[in-house]
Amino acid sequence: MTCYLCEKETVYTTYFCEHCRRIKHLLNLYGKRVNYVLEAVLIRNEQQQKYKIDNELKKEKTNIRKVIFEEKEEKKPMGDSTYIEPNTLNKDYMDELKKKLSQ
Ligand SMILES: [Zn+2]
Repeated sequence: MTCYLCEKETVYTTYFCEHCRRIKHLLNLYGKRVNYVLEAVLIRNEQQQKYKIDNELKKEKTNIRKVIFEEKEEKKPMGDSTYIEPNTLNKDYMDELKKKLSQ
């Protein structure tokens, strides 16, 4: 026969499979708190679904931007992200950096 809870696993001498027996044990220990935790953690309401969808779209946009940015970066004269365009740093800042390097 199959497990009374998951209705998937085959069982011979008991009503519940190994995993469902664990769930039954937790139900005995925590009672309705188990239902609350399952609802709160596993079930997403519409607002939470929206957050998830927005988050996934944001990730996708970031990945697309990354691809575009990296393509542009390859066209840079030196092809290196550490490359600094000449004369873009002021002299004082360059002197400060040189001083730090010589320490
Ligand atoms: Zn089961």
